Amino acid sequence: MSAEIIDGKAFAAGLRERVGTHAGDFEAKAGRKAGLAVVLVGEDPASQVYVRSKGKQTVAAGMASFEHKLPADTSQSDLIAMVEQLNADPGVDGILVQLPLPDHLDEHTVISTISPDKDVDGFHVINAGRLAVGQSGFVPCTPLGCMMLLADRMGDLSGKDAVVIGRSNIVGKPMAQLLLDANATVTIAHSRTKDLPEVVRRADIVVAAVGRAEMVKAEWLKPGAVVIDVGINRLPPADGEDKGKLVGDVDFGGASEVAGAITPVPGGVGPMTIAVLLRNSLVAAYRNEGLDVPVDL
Ligand code: NDP
Repeated sequence: MSAEIIDGKAFAAGLRERVGTHAGDFEAKAGRKAGLAVVLVGEDPASQVYVRSKGKQTVAAGMASFEHKLPADTSQSDLIAMVEQLNADPGVDGILVQLPLPDHLDEHTVISTISPDKDVDGFHVINAGRLAVGQSGFVPCTPLGCMMLLADRMGDLSGKDAVVIGRSNIVGKPMAQLLLDANATVTIAHSRTKDLPEVVRRADIVVAAVGRAEMVKAEWLKPGAVVIDVGINRLPPADGEDKGKLVGDVDFGGASEVAGAITPVPGGVGPMTIAVLLRNSLVAAYRNEGLDVPVDL
């Protein structure tokens, strides 16, 4: 059997297009553009690339992008003052502080300073709590993107057996919560799980968010399972290569012979993350102006 490839790149392009259309409607109704502020502290090269890409895509979607680049030695109090200024700015609907922060800064305190209603990354404990008790808030972008891909592929997830491998606050836990809200029967696996292959073999849906290259093997999967691979891992460069290949947490070659559908890496979950960030930012804008959020966002 050969699995259907879930094209996250195409789905993300469709979502960005819908965001673009609604961003235009929002501007017409509110008399201003929806705005996303991104704060980058220091010069981590990967973070610089992400921030540039977020800025470009925000503008391309017809929203305002505010980039705040602070030096690596910025103090905790200066960073908090910046976040508070953005909280108070009516032109800023979403605030994202790019992680990781330099070691001398306390991520938890900084994230807790962001207004929960502008916390478009969904990392604030208030939003984690809202998700846990089923209230509307902001859900972290990567798991929400995974849910969109699953719902698009499978429709109703009621009664499906789902296994999420990984229990981080930004991927595994919110993913499990979303699957539970969709009435799946959810198992969360982690580094202490006994006999992981056997646990995975029960699942109709497997979400791998581990950070270990090609760990999930074809033999672990139930035939026909839908596999969402969140992992992004770079293999060591092969002879003659500058950089190693990017791979997920699932052995794609083998798994795609057994699974019913699978996300590739790259081109699966990855492109969804920024598209959902734009979506969350526009949702924040509608809510901040007291307008109804469009149903197809
Ligand atoms: P974390 O390192 O925070 O969490 C990894 C989880 O995997 C932990 O819960 C850990 O268990 C579990 N784990 C580690 N080893 C094993 C093992 N051998 N068997 C079972 N479980 C194991 O990672 P993140 O959640 O932040 O990210 C996971 C992956 O997703 C990474 O590759 C990351 O790059 C990628 N990612 C991709 C994004 C995208 O946009 N596509 C966005 C965010 C992340 P324990 O808790 O017991 O230690």
